[in-house]
Amino acid sequence: MTSYPDLHLLIGGEQLGLDGRESEEVIDPATGETIGKLPHATPDDLDRALDCAEKGFREWRDTSADKRAAILNKAAGLIKERAGDIAQALTREQGKPLAEAKGETMYAAMLLEFYAGECKRIYGRTMVRPEGSRVEVQYHPVGPVAGFAPWNFPSLNVMRKIGGALAAGCSTIVKPSEETPAAGIALVQALIDAGVPGDAVQCVFGVPDHVSRHLLGSPIIRKLTFTGSTAVGKHLAKLAAEDLKITTMELGGHGPVLVFKDADIDGALDTMAGAKFRNAGQVCVSPTRFLVEEDVFEKFRDGFVERAEKVKVGNGLEDGTQMGPMANSRGLDNMEKLIGNATEKGGKLLTGGERIGNQGFFHQPSVLAEVPTDADIMNDEPFGPVAILNPMSGEDAMIEEANRLPYGLAAYAWTEDPARRRRLAARVEAGMLGINTAGVSAADAPFGGVKWSGYGSEDGREGVMACMVPKTVHEG
Ligand code: NAD
Repeated sequence: MTSYPDLHLLIGGEQLGLDGRESEEVIDPATGETIGKLPHATPDDLDRALDCAEKGFREWRDTSADKRAAILNKAAGLIKERAGDIAQALTREQGKPLAEAKGETMYAAMLLEFYAGECKRIYGRTMVRPEGSRVEVQYHPVGPVAGFAPWNFPSLNVMRKIGGALAAGCSTIVKPSEETPAAGIALVQALIDAGVPGDAVQCVFGVPDHVSRHLLGSPIIRKLTFTGSTAVGKHLAKLAAEDLKITTMELGGHGPVLVFKDADIDGALDTMAGAKFRNAGQVCVSPTRFLVEEDVFEKFRDGFVERAEKVKVGNGLEDGTQMGPMANSRGLDNMEKLIGNATEKGGKLLTGGERIGNQGFFHQPSVLAEVPTDADIMNDEPFGPVAILNPMSGEDAMIEEANRLPYGLAAYAWTEDPARRRRLAARVEAGMLGINTAGVSAADAPFGGVKWSGYGSEDGREGVMACMVPKTVHEG
């Protein structure tokens, strides 16, 4: 078994370990064993982090764009060099296959490279008045940013919290998930090693509610960015509103997939079955409700079940594993509850539906069909390895079902009809729409949702601008 790194806080550039602090255990979801002890920041630690963030903001904001870009690029290079070790730790704490852990970490480095380039493309505009006076619109970093990242993408989520903020010239305090801390610590360390001041990028852990109340209760923090469930997002948005802090919320989803009879069905099956079971379905943009035109339903259903049954489930460190365990026992409980409720309501369980073994948190890739809309799983995000396949007829009805829920993160469609693609792009309520693809994320394109899936964007130019505020200078 590979070793798992020592865990610590990073405050003011200093690594702070257990030293009498409260702590919690980190569990390997493939074995259920404890692999690390994570120190919790004390209230004094958090106050120190806030003071550092204030100082770090002034220093980093006043660092030239060229220099910021060079440092962020250097950090991206360090992350790539260290990606093998980061991925080992990530798989041990989160469970996903090693190749996915490495791919995710390389993607985080690529996102940072993109942001490094954006440092030099923060433009304002000037309006020249007839009298010779002028009005200039400038963009300034908003101030210190607090970012709270979840456990499903321990590298990428952390980079999404800090990359855009650092490019904008903000300082950041990030709290990766306490369940998957090592990857986030490694990313922050790489930024410090590359030259970001230790006051400008910090990493803390603790009881989430205590840390978020402490940081959001301080006037030093000017922006909150959170990824996680809609319920926690709403709670944090209220806390941030007390002090009118700017917020970016990347919350839950319930990805509809509209499969039309004119589509390349084999292509849709190969792509979407792979996407469904990636990271054991614990992906905010996971495809979940498959709405399949009746004429092709049987073919799609049988092909999906065949592919689900072939997914190789195992420890993410083992060669050939395609799906690891769920990241925590809450995920298993949720699957049991939702699948049980779906079959009670008349849905058909075509494959899977059971936990695998009693060690770690493994669950079978599962497929449900013909599930009525009043079943819980048709309304609550399953966040696990389960697909729901329902036959439908007519584009209007399919769009209506896609838009029925309050969520609107990612949606997908498979069709060869160009006119239909345009109609879908206009009418499907989602922050991202994948047509004939499962890829809805790119470093240079905004990533975010609508309705209960949140607001504000990460990635792309929008991810930097989300950390900036305009100042209009009127010159007489
Ligand atoms: P959760 O919302 O309780 O936790 C998600 C993350 O938010 C965790 O890392 C947690 O540490 C953090 N968090 C929780 N309360 C917080 C607080 N008061 N202040 C700051 N951070 C806080 O969800 P969970 O139990 O981990 O998972 C439940 C559901 O959340 C999932 O089934 C899924 O629907 C959703 N979720 C979504 C994403 C996403 O990528 N959008 C990621 C993780 C979980």
